[in-house]
Amino acid sequence: MTPPCQRSGERRRMVDQQIEARGIRDPFVLAAMRDVPRHLFVPQPYDRDAYADAPLPIGNGQTISQPYIVALMTVLIRPASTDTVLEIGAGSGYQAAILSELVRKVITIERIEEVAALARANLAAVRADNVEIILGDGTLGYPPGAPYNGIIITAATPEIPGPLKEQLAEGGRLVAPVGDRILQELVALERHGVRFTEEHHGGVRFVPLIGRHGWED
Ligand code: SAM
Repeated sequence: MTPPCQRSGERRRMVDQQIEARGIRDPFVLAAMRDVPRHLFVPQPYDRDAYADAPLPIGNGQTISQPYIVALMTVLIRPASTDTVLEIGAGSGYQAAILSELVRKVITIERIEEVAALARANLAAVRADNVEIILGDGTLGYPPGAPYNGIIITAATPEIPGPLKEQLAEGGRLVAPVGDRILQELVALERHGVRFTEEHHGGVRFVPLIGRHGWED
């Protein structure tokens, strides 16, 4: 994907020190995190900190997630090269760009028009051609692309929206920060018919998921 190989040393260090050192071992995910130029997804003046271990502002009160959390959520859906993945909360487009290196097709939904435009520009800049950006309420999912092998919700939700569970493929995995508007726990579901197994992966902090099956605006 990446012709611009600037700051590749910082990316290597980010992966070694913040991601691999914390137990992420999937070689394909690590390679994608080394490849995608995170600094192109972070607006000035914060782009100088693009490889720090932190979320950063992207405008409109929204954030690009911490690199380790992006890697963890990616690993938790167990991406395969034939998969179609749905992301709720395109934000900067960075999580979608990581997924685009690992799966066949990514659909990402963003509710704020300006943010969707930012994601579109960023994803075009890195030529992530297998990502489709939809403007709308992601708590409703996107039935035309369903079923999805993986779903990543990158905003805090009080519970997993029903339409998203319905749009998950058999054996598919969904990961989301579930909790209140301040603190959440990372939850991973796996679908087996009408049953869903559930795993918990520690505390996180995300901006709220606003929509019909999320929080009120
Ligand atoms: N994944 C993003 C990235 O890689 O930069 C970070 C996402 S940011 C933490 C959360 C995003 O979710 C915000 O851009 C916010 O506008 C969006 N959002 C919140 N509620 C939403 C909804 N119902 N549907 C779609 N997007 C939503």
